[in-house]
Amino acid sequence: MAPGRNRRVLLYGNPLLRQKAAKVSAVTDELRQLIADLKTTMLQQDGLGLAANQIGVPVALICVNPRAVDVDQDTISIINPEVVETEGLIEDEEGCLSLPDIYEVIARPARAKITGLDETGRPVTLSATGLLARALVHETDHTKGILFIDYLSPSRRQLLAGRLEELAHREKLSCG
Ligand code: ZN
Repeated sequence: MAPGRNRRVLLYGNPLLRQKAAKVSAVTDELRQLIADLKTTMLQQDGLGLAANQIGVPVALICVNPRAVDVDQDTISIINPEVVETEGLIEDEEGCLSLPDIYEVIARPARAKITGLDETGRPVTLSATGLLARALVHETDHTKGILFIDYLSPSRRQLLAGRLEELAHREKLSCG
């Protein structure tokens, strides 16, 4: 398999970010390459996590970097992620590689249980707390076409309208 490539991260406004990602039915070489690309892109662009549709492939695949939140664990990739259990709520600042320079405080579960498949296609269950739980829930949202700004109040969202428009314009230019 070729080493992972650092791919362009789609920005707000790209319709792929709003598309519900397709479930993966088999771990193929193509998927393994996508996992490698996703990890490389996340690490090289200093992301805490990344979903495959953010690099233009609408399949249900996410990765997170626990080291970015001080959890000493290698990068985790999850295929077909689902949040199956949550507990509590914590408000904290959140950002996204598809919405550069936008940081907003939103509530996320204090603890979350996520199920899916690991890179080899075996079922996996992950329990996380704090920022790692936040990252996993944020990335799982991406696979449903949900962005973190969707949780903002209409008035907060209104304050961002100009910057969102600017991002959508930039994305349009990138797509040609
Ligand atoms: Zn994101």
